[in-house]
Amino acid sequence: MRVLVSGAAGFIPSHMCDRLVAEGHEVVGVDNFLTGSPENLESLRGHPRFRFVEHDVSEPLPDSVTAWRFDAVLHMASPASPKDYLENPIETLMVGSAGSRNLLEVARRDDARYLLTSTSECYGDPLVHPQVETYWGNVNPVGPRSCYDESKRFAEAITMAYHRKYGVRTSIARIFNTYGPRMQLNDGRVVPAFLDQALRGEPLTVFGDGSQTRSFCYVSDLVEGLYRLLHSDERYPVNLGNPIELTILEFAERIRRLTGANSTIVFHPLPEDDPKQRRPDISKAKRILGWTPKVSLEEGLTETVAYFRKVSAATR
Ligand code: UDP
Repeated sequence: MRVLVSGAAGFIPSHMCDRLVAEGHEVVGVDNFLTGSPENLESLRGHPRFRFVEHDVSEPLPDSVTAWRFDAVLHMASPASPKDYLENPIETLMVGSAGSRNLLEVARRDDARYLLTSTSECYGDPLVHPQVETYWGNVNPVGPRSCYDESKRFAEAITMAYHRKYGVRTSIARIFNTYGPRMQLNDGRVVPAFLDQALRGEPLTVFGDGSQTRSFCYVSDLVEGLYRLLHSDERYPVNLGNPIELTILEFAERIRRLTGANSTIVFHPLPEDDPKQRRPDISKAKRILGWTPKVSLEEGLTETVAYFRKVSAATR
């Protein structure tokens, strides 16, 4: 296949590009480096089946992209960490709305498969636990996180509209917290924040009392799920994430143990609208994709620590 990947220089998309190229596909990656990084594409630099175009997909796509015909379009571009989308709320809203439309038009033109990477944030601060795909969510439409949540909800809506109106073969992944190499050390998310703090021997900053929960999926598991979904005929959203749930305080303890850090724990105020609980119900992904995460938190964090040690050493 020839595959168009938006947000190619981002954390998850860059791993997806690696996987697609490894499977023998040809990839055209697009990114404007708002939050992505050229280093994430280092492994693909100069590869004969990988091309890169620097562009913001919220703007009309340039000829250097539209001159190609695609078999699949993956819309993966968006700021994704709370820090990043709070700093870039308009760009976040535009990439889910205008960006989705621009990429859906390519899929429609080429009769290509289309995959949207959506988010567990569609469930907001969920009142149903664990979250099933049929739950409509509890989102504050005017809160600080709404730029991300509503952008992705709009992206899902326009994806379904292109499927219903034009028969585009669409898929929607709702991705839960994912971690691994190529996360930005300073993107503010809890995995890089705690690992960076632990490796420096600084206190781990737990927001609130740390009783809020998250479930962490290692990136290779996630990419396997996305790859399977890309080949499936399921049109409605599918949760992809690891169902093992931890409180943030438990997670801080795990990081301390794993890194052997003698960091203390300090408590900071809980950000507004921070979801209190999050765990995916992955029965649907198991049933229709035969997918289940395989990498334990210990294994995944060990790989991630090794990556962060390497990155911090290189920047010292
Ligand atoms: N969090 C924390 N300390 C940090 C960063 C995040 O306690 O330094 C908490 C945050 O309040 C949230 C959870 O960790 O409850 C996950 O945050 P993250 O930004 O990684 O992703 P989210 O799931 O909120 O999108």
